[in-house]
Amino acid sequence: MFVRPRILSILTTRRCPAACDHCSVGAGPRETDAIPVERIHRLIDEATRIPSLERIGFSGGECFLLGRDLDELVGHASRLGFITRVITNGYWAVSPRVARDRVAAIRERGLDEMMLSTGSFHQRFVSVDRVIAAARAAAESGILTRISIEACDQSTFDDAVLFESLADLVASGSVHLSRDPWIVDAGGRGLADLSHDAYLDDVGSRGLGRCAQVLDVISVTSDQKLIACCGFPSEQLPHLGIGSVSERTLDSVLDSSPNELLKMWLHVSGPAGVAAFVARYVPGYTLPQSASICSACTRLQRDDRAMEIVGRYGAEVASIVAEQFVQLQAKHVDAPRSLKAASYEEKSLA
Ligand code: SF4
Ligand code: SF4
Repeated sequence: MFVRPRILSILTTRRCPAACDHCSVGAGPRETDAIPVERIHRLIDEATRIPSLERIGFSGGECFLLGRDLDELVGHASRLGFITRVITNGYWAVSPRVARDRVAAIRERGLDEMMLSTGSFHQRFVSVDRVIAAARAAAESGILTRISIEACDQSTFDDAVLFESLADLVASGSVHLSRDPWIVDAGGRGLADLSHDAYLDDVGSRGLGRCAQVLDVISVTSDQKLIACCGFPSEQLPHLGIGSVSERTLDSVLDSSPNELLKMWLHVSGPAGVAAFVARYVPGYTLPQSASICSACTRLQRDDRAMEIVGRYGAEVASIVAEQFVQLQAKHVDAPRSLKAASYEEKSLA
């Protein structure tokens, strides 16, 4: 496959202390899928053979359940020159002091970025106080920190507490807060009826435009499947699958998989662009307004009629899609990893 991904996301485990409704990966306390830690270390080594990769993200489930193994993994990726990111719900930040100690240990191994999530559905399991403590500890130690707040009409979470408690760090640019649509779980496990009328009124439809994530971010799921986007809808969307890395290396699976039209098409035109093509054969075909491009994408990929038209007639646009895809990917330069490795060595000696 001709592809130059920039981010490798590793869904280390499906276990999570929380069990948020509409969790996109179906995580929870009883889930047992996990990539063996030793295999994650090898994935990091294999990632060095994909020259365009610049960042490795560790998520789950909840990656902090890996304990000190997570620190070792971050250290390994950092020593090899990757920018490192963890995605967490902050459950471990039971007090400001505990948060500072935990963050100091992982920062010392080279962690660059932390993304936290919170909102109505998370609050049942992890209080916002912990998210605030985690964010403050991370940002004050120099880790770029972002908090993603669930947005949907059903949210009863008052996020003013975040903006007020972290005002100094938000003002200095150390913490970034964003309201992101909490969307229907692609696996059909969610219970609450979600809608986004207020968000759509405020922000407008997000279902338009190209998907810059697909094939730019590649993910290894907790059952060692390689998929072509950020893992948000995970393996629920089989058209995004690339192959299994349980018996083969990451780079060999990526290199040997065929260039598939739909993935490239989503990258250059997004789900709305593909839907416009479907409308040539199904007059009036359109995707509903969506608060998230992934919602629109899920609707498209779950529509057998649309997928049949893409499969039957997509060859009509395959060469132009491939050409545009190659142009976009050619902009990705090989990651200058040695720079980070050098600064890590200096830090270790200090
Ligand atoms: S904290 Fe995140 S991974 Fe865990 S259940 Fe909630 S949404 Fe899923
Ligand atoms: S829009 Fe589709 S391809 Fe892009 S990240 Fe979302 S689910 Fe993946």
